Amino acid sequence: VIVSQDVEKWYDNGFHVLKGVSLNIYKGEVVVIMGPSGSGKSTFIRTFNALEPYQKGKIEIDGIEIAHDLKNIEAIRREVGMVFQQFNLFPHLTVLQNVTLAPIWVRRWKKSKAEEIAMRLLDRVGIREQAYKYPGQLSGGQQQRVAIARSLAMQPKVMLFDEPTSALDPEMVREVLDVMRNLAKDGMTMVCVTHEVGFAREVADRVVLMDEGMLVEENTPEAFFNNPKEERSQKFLSQIL
Ligand code: ATP
Ligand code: MG
Repeated sequence: VIVSQDVEKWYDNGFHVLKGVSLNIYKGEVVVIMGPSGSGKSTFIRTFNALEPYQKGKIEIDGIEIAHDLKNIEAIRREVGMVFQQFNLFPHLTVLQNVTLAPIWVRRWKKSKAEEIAMRLLDRVGIREQAYKYPGQLSGGQQQRVAIARSLAMQPKVMLFDEPTSALDPEMVREVLDVMRNLAKDGMTMVCVTHEVGFAREVADRVVLMDEGMLVEENTPEAFFNNPKEERSQKFLSQIL
């Protein structure tokens, strides 16, 4: 679904943040990206939905190339859902309105259709009863599940997760990971930046380690955690395990 080849990016201040990154993600796969803070993980996955421009290399989403002039940006954003560490919900809209906003305005669905589908998604993430509340009235875990439902409402082909549980209290991490696990089971193609080792071991098809703007190792979770190929992976694992 995603083909990225030799992607290079410099920030405006000249910082070379992505130094030739290549990673393909196939349909139905779950890829977990790990790596130290500042290694470029967020920057890299944000290039997949055209939130970050890049200067060299190529990225294709389902055959649509993210052109450097960003002319395909709308088409791309429709296919790629993203969930952030901070849930980024609209605080003045109810849960239901958060979930139906994009389908109504971007997909041009009728309100009734959008609401019906939204309620089904809220059910799927286990928070149907919260539909008429505002984000501020929900726990962090519930808000993150709203954010996931909101992304799913656009029927994306790929879901990107950028440390979706790292802003949550420990007791809420599990409910969000359970939702992600179920999504994976249902065949969703997912790219997840996360340091949740249990999730990576159990759900990921591949684990990728990023360091200083490069992909250092790509491996099965089994091999990555038990017997990593690279010294840098061993060093990283010794810090998080
Ligand atoms: P973390 O684990 O802390 O989220 P990360 O791997 O996601 O880190 P990025 O957020 O992608 O890392 O940042 C990579 C590097 O780029 C960091 O050194 C950061 O300081 C730098 N950076 C991020 N945004 C900008 C910007 N707008 N301008 C210049 N440098 C930036
Ligand atoms: Mg990050």
